[in-house]
Amino acid sequence: MTFRSLDTADLAGKRALVRVDFNVPMEGGVITDDTRLRSALPTIRYLSSRGAKVILLAHFDRPKGQRVPAMSLGPVAGPLSALLGEPVLFGEDCIGADAYRTVASLENGQMALLENLRFHPGEETNDPAFVSELAAFGDLYVNDAFSAAHRAHASTEGLARLLPSYPGLAMRRELDMLDAALGNPQKPVLGIVGGAKVSTKLDLLNNLVRKLDRLAIGGGMANTFLAAQGHDVGGSLCEHDLGDTARAIMASAKTAGCELLLPVDVVVAREVKPGTATRTCGLDDVKAGDLILDAGPETVKRLIAAMDASKTLIWNGPLGVFEVPPFDAATVAAAKHAAGRVKTGQLVAVAGGGDTVSALNHAGVVDDMTFVSTAGGAFLEWMEGKTLPGVAALEV
Ligand code: AMP
Repeated sequence: MTFRSLDTADLAGKRALVRVDFNVPMEGGVITDDTRLRSALPTIRYLSSRGAKVILLAHFDRPKGQRVPAMSLGPVAGPLSALLGEPVLFGEDCIGADAYRTVASLENGQMALLENLRFHPGEETNDPAFVSELAAFGDLYVNDAFSAAHRAHASTEGLARLLPSYPGLAMRRELDMLDAALGNPQKPVLGIVGGAKVSTKLDLLNNLVRKLDRLAIGGGMANTFLAAQGHDVGGSLCEHDLGDTARAIMASAKTAGCELLLPVDVVVAREVKPGTATRTCGLDDVKAGDLILDAGPETVKRLIAAMDASKTLIWNGPLGVFEVPPFDAATVAAAKHAAGRVKTGQLVAVAGGGDTVSALNHAGVVDDMTFVSTAGGAFLEWMEGKTLPGVAALEV
């Protein structure tokens, strides 16, 4: 994949339309987590310091093409301005006369945030007329919202086709890290896929077994594989109807030369409750009414050995019910070990998707991984091997 670089762009006095992800959690008009604002700061500062007029485009929530006052981006402008230490103008609309006035009032280096793109139906339908109206305000387009790149919307895909387009700094880092994990990784590569169900991760598993040297399967989804191999999983979460699917995935792994690591021992309990009585047992010792809630110590030992034999790790999903101790033990032990290998430069570890970020946070190692993606759906689609329209449109 080749992209234009902002380093070579002529930015002074130019109007840069910058797609950001400001879909922040908000309660009563107050932002409760400003991570997404912070991740856009380097690109905004970069453009501003080179004299561009920075016009920020974003969506918020799901207004479905209607102007919904409760879904205004207005409450974001103040906190963003505070983080930047610079004024941020707010345009009451993202197209039309109001947006035009806001953009026209910008001096070089100044910034404006325009109202929720999704107040217009043309955003999500990628309507060419809407794309042209947006493009009229810009000389160039920068996409810094990897988390929205799996959608072919006007602001994520359409604009890139009309204006000279560039990935922003956060987008660039995300793409570089994804490439280091799955595109052109240092081999051998180990994957860890955990979480609740096989059914939500079929495409992901099918793609990974073709690309990885080893794949460890954990969490509730491992139960489906164990049952497919003929083990009794008692009352555990298990998709018994997916036995054929699990066997097909095991067969493709074999054909592709990907070693599958399934649990060899498990931690069971009678209920999912903190501090409940637990038992560690082998696969053929799970009783009726037992719930498999975590991987056992021998499984963790093997996983750690697999990490030590790998140069790259890609991780999605917890190995057990990490929200309820002690069923966080395998996830925490594996996460800490990965973090230690990253610190000593022996492992490139990239993680993301769903509950993975909270699991790594729980283990206290989210900042010790090489890269943790907060992009959710876009990260998963990329792990599934799908083309992300917002990324493809940036390619030259
Ligand atoms: P996902 O969103 O598919 O990554 O699934 C994450 C969820 O899987 C977490 O809430 C975990 O509690 C749950 N999970 C992991 N292992 C198990 C298990 N053995 N049984 C039931 N749920 C599990």
